[in-house]
Amino acid sequence: MVARPPYFADANSPLEGAEFVILGVPFDATSSFRSGARGAPNAMRDASWNFETYLMEHDVDLIDVAIHDSGNLEDFARPEDMMEVVKSSVGGILKNRSFPIVMGGEHSLTPAVVAALKEWKSGGPEGFGVIVLDAHMDFRDQYLNMRNSHACASRRTSELVGPASMASIGVRSVSGEEMEHIRKDPRNGLRHITADEVRRNGMAASVKKALEWVGKRKVYLSLDIDCLDPAYAPGTGTPEPFGLTALDAKEAIDLLAPMLVGFDIVEIAPNYDNGNTAALGARLVREVIAAVHAARKGRHA
Ligand code: MN
Ligand code: MN
Repeated sequence: MVARPPYFADANSPLEGAEFVILGVPFDATSSFRSGARGAPNAMRDASWNFETYLMEHDVDLIDVAIHDSGNLEDFARPEDMMEVVKSSVGGILKNRSFPIVMGGEHSLTPAVVAALKEWKSGGPEGFGVIVLDAHMDFRDQYLNMRNSHACASRRTSELVGPASMASIGVRSVSGEEMEHIRKDPRNGLRHITADEVRRNGMAASVKKALEWVGKRKVYLSLDIDCLDPAYAPGTGTPEPFGLTALDAKEAIDLLAPMLVGFDIVEIAPNYDNGNTAALGARLVREVIAAVHAARKGRHA
């Protein structure tokens, strides 16, 4: 086996002036079922060298795009410590006017990224919405006595941007407690499109509906890899059958690209992977970079 460089493929730009900055967060301390997501940033980096630098659908060569890989944060024991450093690190990326791409680690990092985007007034005076691709609602107030568990990621995020500015796509697993919270007061609910609705109506219609709900011109996208069917993404902590396809995820990214202010990809667990999940994760990161870059080029043309 040929030794591959320890950074994300084609991330050859210095931090200063980078259009995209990749940050790894090897944190999985709150994982409820089976852990291992701490290995995901490096697994995606390793898998990224599999791909051509040129993405034919976008006519973008990543060699020509200023991408910087900031490496990994340290491995924290408490989610609160991780979140504090994620927030300040992403703040630094936004200060440089770069587009943040955060590779988890588990989903508990998302509220910290969103907090940084909010602080830096991403999306301008109107602000930004959040779209989550996830098998789970992640809307518990706490889980195993932890408010910052990965099972509460969307709940914590909704407290930052308001539930009306959020939507989740691919949902097919929710607790009675989460549903009760929504039923008690619909304003507390996370509006969602199930994986089955995506299958019936297509991803384009699903994204359109989500964007109508969210009602913002700028969007942050959080992709929990378990939104996908385990057939496409077996390497995850909480596999949930009857999920989205890999092309569904790609289509969602392509449709949202012109609006994106940031992206995270979470919950890949390489220790349960046959290699394909990390490869797909790396490819989806490359998809975000190429699609966002192409959309911006189009705007400036
Ligand atoms: Mn999740
Ligand atoms: Mn999930």
